[in-house]
Amino acid sequence: MKKTKKLIISGEKDRVWDATFQLMSWWDAESVRKSSVMVVGAGALGNEVLKNLALMNIGHILTVDFDTVEYANLSRSVLFRESDSDARRNKCEVAAERIRQLNPNVRVMALHGDIMIDIGLGVFRRMDAIIGCLDNRLARLMINRQAFRIGKSWIDGAIENLSGQMVVYKPGTSCYECQLSDSEWANIRERMGCPDVARRNYAAGKIPTTPISASIIGALQVQEALKLIHHNDKQSTAGEIFRLDGMHNLFMHYDVQALKKECDSHFQIAEVIELPELRHTSTVQEALDILCRHFDDEGLWINLDHEFVIEVTGEDTGHKIYPMKAKPHLSDDILDLQRIDPLEELFITKSVSVLDRSFPYPELTLKAIGIPPLHIVSVETKGDIHFAELHGDKDFMKFT
Ligand SMILES: [Zn+2]
Repeated sequence: MKKTKKLIISGEKDRVWDATFQLMSWWDAESVRKSSVMVVGAGALGNEVLKNLALMNIGHILTVDFDTVEYANLSRSVLFRESDSDARRNKCEVAAERIRQLNPNVRVMALHGDIMIDIGLGVFRRMDAIIGCLDNRLARLMINRQAFRIGKSWIDGAIENLSGQMVVYKPGTSCYECQLSDSEWANIRERMGCPDVARRNYAAGKIPTTPISASIIGALQVQEALKLIHHNDKQSTAGEIFRLDGMHNLFMHYDVQALKKECDSHFQIAEVIELPELRHTSTVQEALDILCRHFDDEGLWINLDHEFVIEVTGEDTGHKIYPMKAKPHLSDDILDLQRIDPLEELFITKSVSVLDRSFPYPELTLKAIGIPPLHIVSVETKGDIHFAELHGDKDFMKFT
């Protein structure tokens, strides 16, 4: 029998993942190891970004996506396999598993959810870089507003055919919302009105993408993320749009449009109050008790980011449905289960947009109302507005 050669494992000193990167004068291994980066979207672009982040030894990587792997994704996704599409596995979970295999030094967390409602603002707050790998404007707008609210830049990428673009949006310098044209706004409004997650996020028409443009644009996004991690403001490309025309090998850059005076994205929270007793599993009653005690005001209320729908009525039959869900969570599937006429129009006839002592269901949890873990809620007291983090959820972020 042939003897197999014993594998000689080199000493720990030789097993430093980023030894080569450390040869770059600007590389700060400690900052990179400690950093946290969120990647929203695990499609073609997200795959490339996640792969690069893992190879670059980013300490904590959060992957967010609500979708499952399909066979059509395989030609553009280095992290997915045919078995993943057969099993319809969640994209974010597969991606997390594969990048852990790529570089066992990185800690990864997968969040299966919709950026519109499922990711708390406190999650954004804990990130050193936020990267958007999305195919629709509504989700981009959401990231822009959330990131700016806590004073963070974010890095947007978009691909189509052999082309693509990359933009760093930075509060006070460049803003995604300020760039939107009237027709783009019309498209966003249409999606905002659509409660179904899948339909809301479905890109209008099929946009052809390639792994080639994804790898170029994704690489640029990670390069910009490294600048953010290193606080390298000087070399940041914030304020410019980088556009790649892959067919003609053109690489162009333009200045972004000037900031508008009136823009909802420009609001920034001055102070976040961390309340350790408050968590997404607190009931409305408990949350109000904690807040009223803290602010010494029995009349305060919590402003909801999304309308909480209590009652929906059929236009013709007058049949009433009680979904008890935040509007973005109100899918057709939920309504179809209870409606008696599948064709009639349904109208929201009872909903609330604030939680106060008069809320009729104080036993419901904040989670049930549509407030995600580690969120920062807006609390209104007599003439003042405060921002309180569900700090009891601080251990929610688990990178493994
Ligand atoms: Zn703006």
